[in-house]
Amino acid sequence: MDQNITVVKFGGTSLADASQFKKVASIIKADPKRRYAVVSAPGKRFSSDIKITDLLIRCYNAKTPEDRSAAFDVIADRYTGIERDLALSTDIAGEIDLIREKVESPEGVTYSYLISRGEYLSARLMSAYLGFDFVDAADLVFFDDKGVLDEAKTYPRVREVLEKHRNAVIPGFYGSLADGSINTFPRGGSDITGSVIARGVEAHLYENWTDVSGVLMADPKIIPDAKCIDVLTYRELRELSYMGTQVLQEDAVFPVKQLGIPINVRNTNDVSAPGTMIVAEAPPSASGRTVTGLAGRRGFSVLLIEKTFMNNQVGFMRRILSLFEKHGISIEHVPTGIDTLSVIFESARATPEAIGDIIASINRDLKVDYISYSENVALVAVAGRNMVNRSGTAGMILTQLGKAGINILLLSQSSNEINIIVGVEAMHFEKTLRILYDLFKD
Ligand code: ASP
Repeated sequence: MDQNITVVKFGGTSLADASQFKKVASIIKADPKRRYAVVSAPGKRFSSDIKITDLLIRCYNAKTPEDRSAAFDVIADRYTGIERDLALSTDIAGEIDLIREKVESPEGVTYSYLISRGEYLSARLMSAYLGFDFVDAADLVFFDDKGVLDEAKTYPRVREVLEKHRNAVIPGFYGSLADGSINTFPRGGSDITGSVIARGVEAHLYENWTDVSGVLMADPKIIPDAKCIDVLTYRELRELSYMGTQVLQEDAVFPVKQLGIPINVRNTNDVSAPGTMIVAEAPPSASGRTVTGLAGRRGFSVLLIEKTFMNNQVGFMRRILSLFEKHGISIEHVPTGIDTLSVIFESARATPEAIGDIIASINRDLKVDYISYSENVALVAVAGRNMVNRSGTAGMILTQLGKAGINILLLSQSSNEINIIVGVEAMHFEKTLRILYDLFKD
């Protein structure tokens, strides 16, 4: 890893207007190691505002040419306004006109091309403001014909191209397909671009600047005063993201993970906050907390099966699971007892017909004693590397929820011991999260 290179990525709210652009520029200029900056499209300036990417989607979906032009005008105004407020004399209007011509041409534009222009124009303005080179992501990031990142082609290219630029601004979110056309990552994908660039140049650090002071221990919509996590491992983040923690795009970890490049989540609006460090391995948390973070979601279903002497029946579990496979339903957890087995899956993945067929097949072919099916289950993940070899965590969860009169439908620990999943009725979801947060926050 190159100790002199930090890749920085700034999210939409960090670039919402000219005053945010100024904050970003001063952050970048404050450290000469911050050589490569990846930028998102401008986001919301106030809560009822609309992100540029969403405006571009509206523009694409406009029913008439007049509506399309009007939608495009709103986008153009955002950029020319930022250029004016920054007193820049880039030819952003010329760039906008080139895009407009394509949008209004009889052939039109592809969806991916149009929604990628938010990042493109943002990077044009930021590179001019900083006096950095502009390097187009279409020349660095490549996708295969299935739209999957072509890592073998991308990383060497990132290295080869950026070696020639002391400093550069690169648009996030998109890259190109083999035929040269534009393709994008999923929404929030500039996080992935930042990670790809960091991996390509072998940066020693990937700073991801956003509008919160790091990854919080729990969803602030439910726990408004949730504490910030100081250090998080990639694995803990994966557990938490999967269950709903939204700070980084889920796929943003895999490129940097290959080299163990740490990700530092920081707040553009509070530079003094150290943020959260996301690392490959970490010693027990400095705070000494057993639990690093909590996350959860509603929308799960449980199929519970009981059969005496189930434990002796070779292949019983396989036969149950193959029924789910037949219906293409992916399974989240399979907690087992001596004579019981539960299958937990996302409700949205199964049709009532599929469930009916699975239950009928089990009754017919497996001669079980009891079978029950419930929807409206919420799962809460309690994740923490400190739980390994520390006894009593599950016991504490059971006791505390028991005292609150919350019925626990399942409790399952991952084999690497860094995650305990608690299943409760959906109506108890928020209360469960609050109780567990209070239990583990100190
Ligand atoms: N602008 C894109 C989006 O809104 C990508 C990003 O911001 O990361 O999803």
